[in-house]
Amino acid sequence: MDGKMQLLAAGNLLEAHTWKGMLESSGIAVELKGEALLGGVGELPTGIQNVELWVSQPDYQVAKKQMDLLNAEQPQWKCVSCHEANESSFELCWNCSAEKSEKYS
Ligand SMILES: [Zn+2]
Repeated sequence: MDGKMQLLAAGNLLEAHTWKGMLESSGIAVELKGEALLGGVGELPTGIQNVELWVSQPDYQVAKKQMDLLNAEQPQWKCVSCHEANESSFELCWNCSAEKSEKYS
């Protein structure tokens, strides 16, 4: 049995692709599932997208550990304009495109 397991649900497509890229650079195959993938990007307002990251069962524990490491290494920053949490790799807020403020990083 080589089932798939849901690793996490991202709040938006950009976040999902960021995680996917980081995991794939570690050799873990990631599959994205979610309503946001059905239509073209831009048809859905940002903020209500729900994208899930799935990995194969043997990779799950490694992927989970990888996520914890990435989270520890890269604390999120909070947008000063809309107060959304952003990944540290983002230079602009995913939600309102405001610039990252070092004060809050
Ligand atoms: Zn913002």
